[in-house]
Amino acid sequence: YEEELTKREALAAVGQLAAGMAHEIRNPLTSIKGFIQLLREQEETNRRETYFSVILTEIERIDGLLNDVLVLARYRDDKIVSECFPVMEELSGVIRLLEPEANRRGIKLELQIAHGAWYIYGYRSRIKQAFLNILKNAFEALTNGGSLVRITVIASIHRIVITVEDDGPGMSDETLQNLFIPFFTTKQEGTGLGLSTTQRIITDHGGEIFAGNSSDLKGARFEIRLPLRSKEEL
Ligand code: ADP
Ligand code: MG
Repeated sequence: YEEELTKREALAAVGQLAAGMAHEIRNPLTSIKGFIQLLREQEETNRRETYFSVILTEIERIDGLLNDVLVLARYRDDKIVSECFPVMEELSGVIRLLEPEANRRGIKLELQIAHGAWYIYGYRSRIKQAFLNILKNAFEALTNGGSLVRITVIASIHRIVITVEDDGPGMSDETLQNLFIPFFTTKQEGTGLGLSTTQRIITDHGGEIFAGNSSDLKGARFEIRLPLRSKEEL
């Protein structure tokens, strides 16, 4: 009987995921369909470029969604290999990637980072995605007030702790209870997959992630802990 129950629960979870996905894919599909119809009807329009770029953006949205869902499904992508790599290379890369956007939005990136040759074992591109998801959320939170994102890195022999805090609106108790659940979002345009995939990536790398509010900056605070590999293990 118990086995039946877990099976039923598992099926319910699959159903929820499938429903969430279907919903998330339908929106961009509807808009792609609409703009293709416009392109067909308005052959002489000077807005072709706009239409095409909307279509491309929506296709990229579906692509990103599928990528997240595959991470959640623990799908093994043969093209991505595991390796030992310096974790700060990925964090710095993500920060460099986001700097222009921070400038554009008037967001100050405060870095309290020591740079060491700290190695972790796993998938580079996934870890990069995890950092990107956390920082993108911080940026998005700051559209409702606030202008500071602080990134702190502390490492010991066996562990690195990366903290991202912002001075945005922070998170309610309800949000804090649900934010790692797939498709939970409080945003109009959100997929609600960023933090669930991030959590999956971090725990698959032997790490942990904690969410809360920053006592100092009053906004949100995310802490990622990852186990380090020593040089001898490489
Ligand atoms: P999405 O960004 O698509 O909404 P996520 O899984 O990335 O999905 O985040 C889930 C929710 O967690 C967000 O909708 C938001 O309510 C909350 N959240 C995440 N990061 C922050 C932050 N820095 N400040 C305030 N709320 C946040
Ligand atoms: Mg997000």
